[in-house]
Amino acid sequence: DTLVNQIAAGEVVERPASVVKELVENALDAGARRIDIDLEEGGVRLIRVRDDGGGIAASDLPLAIARHATSKIASLDDLESVATLGFRGEALPSIASVSRFSLASRRDDDGHGAVLPVEGGRIGTLAPKPHPQGTTVEVRDLFYNVPARRKFLRAERTELGHIEEWLRSLALARPEVELRVTHNGKPSRRYRALGVLGGDAATDSPERLLETLGGEFARNALRVEHAAAGLRLHGWIARPAYNRASADQQYLYVNGRSVRDRSIAHAVKQAYADVLFHGRQPAYVLFLELDPRGVDVNVHPAKHEVRFRESRLVHDFVHRTLHAALAGTRA
Ligand code: ADP
Ligand code: MG
Repeated sequence: DTLVNQIAAGEVVERPASVVKELVENALDAGARRIDIDLEEGGVRLIRVRDDGGGIAASDLPLAIARHATSKIASLDDLESVATLGFRGEALPSIASVSRFSLASRRDDDGHGAVLPVEGGRIGTLAPKPHPQGTTVEVRDLFYNVPARRKFLRAERTELGHIEEWLRSLALARPEVELRVTHNGKPSRRYRALGVLGGDAATDSPERLLETLGGEFARNALRVEHAAAGLRLHGWIARPAYNRASADQQYLYVNGRSVRDRSIAHAVKQAYADVLFHGRQPAYVLFLELDPRGVDVNVHPAKHEVRFRESRLVHDFVHRTLHAALAGTRA
């Protein structure tokens, strides 16, 4: 099955940043409040993600790296309304097939932890190993056995940049989680866990906005908060005075998942164009919430894209809401 997993890896794992994404999303799905990420050489040499989540029982470790063995979806109904970030059961087997991999974990109620090594898809021997509650995944020498893929990896700084950019988008969406990053043995980023203000307010942390995107964005940020017809849009859009030459500060989340969506991007641009700022790029951090049955997240293995059941309605809602925010009136 190694070959099948390596082929799947081609879709799920493009570069170190995609590995970090899959591992950190697993940690979040496991309820982690603190995630430590250690990197070496832009993640090419080492990616280690440790979390304090629910952990995996020793006897379940082999299952976690078996293809399509997800613990998150039990039925087709679940697939209609996925609440977790992962659900395809592909990430770990894919990553393990193209690296020197190990999965170590301990559940709260187990006496001790265990570790399962996998090298290039060949599963090693399950062994006891002390481990605090939670999980550590280690990924060394990414693509060491797939030279054609390894060739496409970029310089250390570039790969690190991709990882940091993805972590920034995550930090914006999950201010209640602490994220610590080291690179080549030195601390490189730290996002503190910010106080949960109660309910959804937690997702709109002005402190986190400042930490991630800087003071100028924060000072120019217009608050967005509007709900209608089962849709809710909240977050910030920068005043047109703070628009950008490039599309580098556009963060969109659908039900907490960071996505790219052409139709919503268009709606935002249109709202900007309404207030007369052509040819520049808007800057925003926007969270769209809707009934999970109204959106299909199973469009692409990496889950970057979504499909709305009523895309016209969503487009117009976003456009109207932002138009009102930018024009300083109510939607
Ligand atoms: P998916 O996330 O789609 O379920 P993955 O291949 O990413 O598939 O992970 C396989 C399974 O391994 C998960 O369903 C989960 O049960 C378990 N798992 C992976 N990472 C963690 C983690 N950090 N903490 C607890 N369980 C984990
Ligand atoms: Mg996953």
